[in-house]
Amino acid sequence: MEFFLHDIAGFLDQDQILDDPTDLKLYETDATSLFPSKAKLVLLPNTVEELSKIIQSIHNYNDTKPAHKLSFLARGAGTGLSGGAIARSHSVIISMARFTKIINIDLENEVALVEAGVVNASLNKILKDSSLHFAPDPSSQQACTIGGNLAENAGGVHCFKYGVTSEHVLGMEFVNSDGELAYFGALNENLEFEPSAADIDISSLIVGSEGTFGIATKILLKLTPIPQSFITIQAAFASTQSCGKLVSDIVKQGFKPAALETVDNNAVKAINAAYNLGFSDDVKAVILIELDGEPGELQRERNQIKELIDSYSPVSVAETQDAVERLKLWKVRKGAAAAFGKIAPYWYLYDLVVPRSKIPNALHGLEKIADKYKLLLANILHAGDGNIHPNFLYDPDKEPDVVDRIHKASHEIMELCVSLDGTLSGEHGIGIEKQEYMSELFSDMDMKKMLMLREVFDPHYISNPDKIFPIRICRECHRDYDLEQFKS
Ligand SMILES: Cc1cc2nc3c(=O)[nH]c(=O)nc-3n(C[C@H](O)[C@H](O)[C@H](O)COP(=O)(O)OP(=O)(O)OC[C@H]3O[C@@H](n4cnc5c(N)ncnc54)[C@H](O)[C@@H]3O)c2cc1C
Repeated sequence: MEFFLHDIAGFLDQDQILDDPTDLKLYETDATSLFPSKAKLVLLPNTVEELSKIIQSIHNYNDTKPAHKLSFLARGAGTGLSGGAIARSHSVIISMARFTKIINIDLENEVALVEAGVVNASLNKILKDSSLHFAPDPSSQQACTIGGNLAENAGGVHCFKYGVTSEHVLGMEFVNSDGELAYFGALNENLEFEPSAADIDISSLIVGSEGTFGIATKILLKLTPIPQSFITIQAAFASTQSCGKLVSDIVKQGFKPAALETVDNNAVKAINAAYNLGFSDDVKAVILIELDGEPGELQRERNQIKELIDSYSPVSVAETQDAVERLKLWKVRKGAAAAFGKIAPYWYLYDLVVPRSKIPNALHGLEKIADKYKLLLANILHAGDGNIHPNFLYDPDKEPDVVDRIHKASHEIMELCVSLDGTLSGEHGIGIEKQEYMSELFSDMDMKKMLMLREVFDPHYISNPDKIFPIRICRECHRDYDLEQFKS
């Protein structure tokens, strides 16, 4: 390490190198607390050139100490929920905290070029007086970065209609694991928007690769029109089943709301307690439906959906077209994570997807698992996408074995998800959290094919290693450096 520290001290200032244990403590977890791991070193480059040099220094070090290979990982805001931004073994964390420039907004071509550390909500703040916005809106958007959104292919409440991050990234500047710069998609090396020819879309391959291919440093984003009119409807029901069936009916009948979200019983209780929203005790589920578009069409759609809602005998219905009231109705969904703190000091959130028609089966199965392990479960759902977030609310000081029970329940949740033809993650990625469950869904051959693709970008296996794939497979790559064995 001395050698490496000496090397980077040649081009980084002391305030760009964090090695004090108190500083490093802040980087031990992301937003999930179950997989803490000590970082050795956190580096804060100011420029892409410095970032490249850090990676080159890692190579210099590895050339001298091949048995103790150093690796690196990019860290955005650390709001990830699958352990992706946590350093394992010999990883140096490269913080993107100083890459916060919005470089260019081109309203005519409806694109924006931003540095990877720009916070999602900051971009829309700048755009607020235009008619355009960056559509992906994760609930963490006040903190998470565009680079993190790209790496996790983040979703959000309005992604049901507008699509997840991959549909909004047009190109990028990228530093590969040799520290070399490359430009992909519709961004050329002069940082100009240049609509790409019909070739292999490399930038789409990078979106969702969880930092294992290298580091995105500048990102060219598609901007889309801000809908001119909206209607937000919030309906509360005495049964989660009614809520689930309503979701299916809305989609089956061909409606495409901008958002279609639900929260279940314990989540409603927490939210009610936190914000005094006035739901009566018999409310077991709440649905939020947001429609947007051309005003005339919107009203017609609203009337038809309202009929569907009424057919399930809601306990209460509220709706608004007013921007301030809208935020109040959204509180039941957007305020959920914070409200959980009213019930328990810790919160462990899961992310799984099942076919929409199987949401009721999934909720039933989750309830059984929570009962079996005596865990307090609250579900919030991007219901339109079949994306369920079960949350376990817990206090390890009161129940010392609770984390162990959560790990056991996690395994059964994954089995349940796969048995319902679902998939492991809708938006939070695999990271550390779900890597050991990959084998439930993918054959070794599938995973080895994915690793071969990874190898094209990171032949040294030093960009965020030991993530996504089961450790057994990661270790094979570590040992052999190349993936020859997988190519037969
Ligand atoms: C309260 C709360 C609500 C959330 N709601 C949502 C939601 O609605 N939808 C959703 O999708 N997610 C949600 N998340 C999860 C999280 O916010 C997203 O995954 C987000 O995209 C992570 O961004 P970040 O900047 O915090 O990334 P980090 O956590 O710092 O990193 C995540 C991964 O991205 C990689 N990475 C970061 N920057 C780069 C880069 N420049 N180049 C290459 N790799 C990089 C890291 O190595 C890591 O693997 C939520 C989290 C919280 C705490």
